[in-house]
Amino acid sequence: MTEIRLANVTKTYPGGQTAVDKVDLTIKDGEFFVLLGPSGCGKSTTLRMIAGLEPISGGDLFIGDRRMNEVDPKDRDLAFVFQNYALFPHLTVRGNLTFGMRLRGVPAETQQSRLAEVTGMLGLGPYLERKPGQLSGGQRQRVALGRALLRDPVAFLLDEPLSNLDAKLRAQMRTELVKLHRRVGRTIIHVTHDQIEAMTMAERICIMNNGKVAQIGAPMEVYRNPADTFVATFTGSPPMNLLEGRLDNGMLTFAQTSAPVQAAAPAGPVTIGFRPEDAVLAPRPGHLPLQATVVAVETLGADAILVASLQDGQEVNMRVGADTSLPAGAAISVYLDSERLRLFDPKTTLAVPCRLAA
Ligand code: ADP
Repeated sequence: MTEIRLANVTKTYPGGQTAVDKVDLTIKDGEFFVLLGPSGCGKSTTLRMIAGLEPISGGDLFIGDRRMNEVDPKDRDLAFVFQNYALFPHLTVRGNLTFGMRLRGVPAETQQSRLAEVTGMLGLGPYLERKPGQLSGGQRQRVALGRALLRDPVAFLLDEPLSNLDAKLRAQMRTELVKLHRRVGRTIIHVTHDQIEAMTMAERICIMNNGKVAQIGAPMEVYRNPADTFVATFTGSPPMNLLEGRLDNGMLTFAQTSAPVQAAAPAGPVTIGFRPEDAVLAPRPGHLPLQATVVAVETLGADAILVASLQDGQEVNMRVGADTSLPAGAAISVYLDSERLRLFDPKTTLAVPCRLAA
């Protein structure tokens, strides 16, 4: 069992900026773990502290049972794949791949068999004699991954490895990485600002905001039950709708509609959240009806986003069928799935446990 555990880990850069603030997290052995968050939230710093490329200012890092804070990066048994791939430009693909093994004095025969195994896995066979400059972005990415694989580390640390690729290749590499993970069975810690990448690849996601952990959970858990309004709006495309409302005497009131609710929150203002697909245009049991006006219908191909204005002027996004044809200004009824409604405390932005009866 080689768990990677951060206990109360903090990073303050010279100059005083706290980039990572008392982070606690445990990455399970063999897990595909994604650090997700906007630019500047502290993802790379966290990854670099795990790798040993950045000193830890406070707290403890454990790999297995061993405290690693002061251990040299090369003795941590981790493979770091950089965003820019960091390949040697003057070496061929073969040279880049075997460089580490030669340095470690791995016998030539073992080198050859391991090289064949990894190039086969990544489809790099035809490119072995080329230099990095003669490869596409995706091929360079594979060489960087191959080099990491050949080290046979405890974990792979990937810092935005797909961000330099075009959309099609990125989607393809997402699938390849997931397959590779299944095959190799090693821990992957993958840093990205792209929530789709996180949703599609991770077994668990850690969402960071301002140097702190906002939430850790399986992709659907984070998507369905965001811990706060930041997670609610950072995930999903379009993000979760957030509306202003009130809680009074067991009644939730918003957009000129009221519904009985059990919520662990005091009377007063409350934020109501629901995903675009949790509102529909036809009545259904357990759904809360609201009156609205169509603002626009934006076709996406497979489906469409209907922007609707509720009676109090608040706008919401709904995911509707691609063939929905409604003119701007049309009066519609919108039905919200009461089981999927979420409440948040507007002061703390944190989720409030609730049960709504439609
Ligand atoms: P992310 O990977 O989420 O984009 P980073 O971990 O790179 O975020 O950065 C977190 C914060 O720390 C940012 O505000 C960034 O400006 C700051 N930072 C990163 N590296 C350094 C550094 N070497 N010196 C000072 N501040 C830094």
